[in-house]
Amino acid sequence: MSSPIQSIRGMHDVLPEHSALWQQLENSVRDIVQSYGYREIRMPIVESTDLFCRSIGEVTDIVEKEMYTFADRNGDSLTLRPEGTASCVRACVQHGLLHNQQQRLWYMGPMFRHERPQKGRYRQFHQVGVETFGMNGPDIDAELILMTARIWKKLGLKNIRLELNTLGSNAARVAYREVLVAYLSAHRDVLDEDSLRRLDSNPLRILDSKNPFMQSLIESAPKMMDHLDDESRQHFEQLKSILDAAGVAYNINPRLVRGLDYYCKTVFEWVSDNLGAQGTVCAGGRYDGLVEQLGGRATTAAGFAMGIERLLALLEEQGCKHEDYADVFVVMQGEAAQTQGMLLAERIRDAWPALKLQTNCGGGSFKSQIKKADKSNATIALILGDDEIRQNRVAVKHLREQMDQILVEQKDVVSALATWLKKNPE
Ligand code: ATP
Ligand code: MG
Repeated sequence: MSSPIQSIRGMHDVLPEHSALWQQLENSVRDIVQSYGYREIRMPIVESTDLFCRSIGEVTDIVEKEMYTFADRNGDSLTLRPEGTASCVRACVQHGLLHNQQQRLWYMGPMFRHERPQKGRYRQFHQVGVETFGMNGPDIDAELILMTARIWKKLGLKNIRLELNTLGSNAARVAYREVLVAYLSAHRDVLDEDSLRRLDSNPLRILDSKNPFMQSLIESAPKMMDHLDDESRQHFEQLKSILDAAGVAYNINPRLVRGLDYYCKTVFEWVSDNLGAQGTVCAGGRYDGLVEQLGGRATTAAGFAMGIERLLALLEEQGCKHEDYADVFVVMQGEAAQTQGMLLAERIRDAWPALKLQTNCGGGSFKSQIKKADKSNATIALILGDDEIRQNRVAVKHLREQMDQILVEQKDVVSALATWLKKNPE
């Protein structure tokens, strides 16, 4: 026998024992963003490579070394999406969703980056993304942050903090960049190889360096905050005052620059200390220039993306488990009972669609079926054998409590279940 094929390094199966927690998280996020009026958009997983080069930026980690890029059979260069914002903007421009309109959109799905796999960092990972278009005030920035805070509350996530910064308008950023490059160039001897490379292409990213030998240099670097234009300053002050009024705590972090080129003004991250180096669970900000950069008419925009795997790791670390359970398991003995049991199960499902009801398939002795019932986590077993069929009855057995088994008329089984399960058909 040849050896079994394994999944690709850094790309993981979500096994049934975990999928319930995934679904719970996905449902919570979906419910909240939709309650704020956000509508779902679904984009393809593969796009033209050019889309990401033009949006994320040629000199970013993602474009330089993390993309899954390949030639299509006709020679076109395609890329598995490393993030969703670029695709979302592409789709909006392509379908005219931005013309004289505001949009609140969200999406969920896999992203692909060829990074070194480690805890919280995978090659296929999943994001929920939210993008808004056509709203230029700090109010929408605040809404995005308040909405994420509500999501954490609903999930019961603790110990995550909000880091906030502003990158200023594009013009102010260009001016600040010059000041920063002058400062860094004067200290070339302290810069590491990565930083030297970025000095010309993406100097703001140097502020994000984790290199311990560069920390004091970075601490003393000129701050964007001191080079803001009036409009950005006002925007940032207003955002802070909304957050203050809403009681959302934040930490101003002048080093927060985000890895992607397209951000301006507000940038934020939600960070946990419980996930080691991979502590950022959600990141976003304003990207007013991107739509135009991708060929659309100038449109202001802001959004964020959260990493599902990291949120799940945090939930699990905090002891959150989602028990998958069944309510009822139908045990059937004999050929007649087999058919009758399936039909009874169908009638119960008609009357009680939300009930979790599983039937025994594949035969087996009474004992082995009860074992399966127990393993299914069901609370109650319905038992059908020849005697029960003859009498149009079904035996009801409690699997979790010491209670006498009872016989009920098949037509009364739904109300008997409601009593025993202590809940009602919705
Ligand atoms: P990091 O600094 O951790 O590499 P990033 O700045 O590259 O993050 P973004 O592109 O802003 O991340 O993506 C938003 C979120 O998606 C991150 O905050 C994180 O939660 C998640 N994320 C990004 N890359 C990965 C990955 N390789 N594996 C798992 N989650 C990821
Ligand atoms: Mg990254």
